[in-house]
Amino acid sequence: MRIAVTAAGPSLEDNIDPRFGRCSYFLIIDTDDMSVEAIENPNLALSGGAGIQSAQLMAEREVEAVLTGNCGPNAFRTLEAAGIQVLTGARGVVRDTVEQFNAGALSAAQQPNVAGHFGMGTGAPAQSMGAGYGAGMGRGMGGGRGMGGGRGMGRGMGAGRGMGAGMMGAQFDRVAAQPAALPGQQGAPMNAQTETHALRAQAEALQERLGALNARIAELEQGGAVSALVATVDADACTACGACLEACPVGAIAIAEVARIDPGLCMGCGDCVVDCPEGAVSLRKRA
Ligand code: SF4
Ligand code: SF4
Repeated sequence: MRIAVTAAGPSLEDNIDPRFGRCSYFLIIDTDDMSVEAIENPNLALSGGAGIQSAQLMAEREVEAVLTGNCGPNAFRTLEAAGIQVLTGARGVVRDTVEQFNAGALSAAQQPNVAGHFGMGTGAPAQSMGAGYGAGMGRGMGGGRGMGGGRGMGRGMGAGRGMGAGMMGAQFDRVAAQPAALPGQQGAPMNAQTETHALRAQAEALQERLGALNARIAELEQGGAVSALVATVDADACTACGACLEACPVGAIAIAEVARIDPGLCMGCGDCVVDCPEGAVSLRKRA
């Protein structure tokens, strides 16, 4: 079986890196003979979209499972769409974790265990076993979704609150992010601090989209392959609201009774999946 493990270094003796999208290395491991291919994470320095880009990388490398410490919602959905199992809560030395996986001691997560943007701004994990995982786990960054009528300001963006849950021993923890109040929302004070908070969240979201777009441009300019994933719409669930059309950074979506996606333009970024209020869009492997 071909699996990927997020690691702090290039060997089986290195520790697991708890970050998925911004891990230092992906170790592609054949569990039959324990052969390893180490890939330096090209998405480590992305300002945004690292989770989805890294999930796409996993799909391109045709791994069947990913073992990591933490996985946010966008990356989780993308991995799920690619048919890749996600096992979170992993820690310690890579070799030990893979042996546990081979022994059937680890089970797949059913949902993401951190909010979006986990791992941004954090350094590489400590090299000693057991250290470094408790510290830093409470640094969750908000990946809040649209707040009601946010369309007037582009995509409505919320700011999640920190994740305080410890990870020790857990296969996964529930996503604890809660959207913050935005100006104009009922009960939200209209003051400079609140507006600053909201604007920062929106700027962060724009930066994330720009990062994903620039990453794809760079990939194409270097002769990169067509993305392994492509978005598809469930016509029965689509209400033609247009949210996905606004979200798509490459103009791959048109509305004709329901949303239609041009697979030739789609780069599989997953933004439409995140923004669809009906859950009508999903990513699938490109045929
Ligand atoms: S966001 Fe969802 S419901 Fe709205 S048009 Fe797109 S696919 Fe349809
Ligand atoms: S249709 Fe647009 S937003 Fe959706 S995955 Fe493709 S490129 Fe991204």
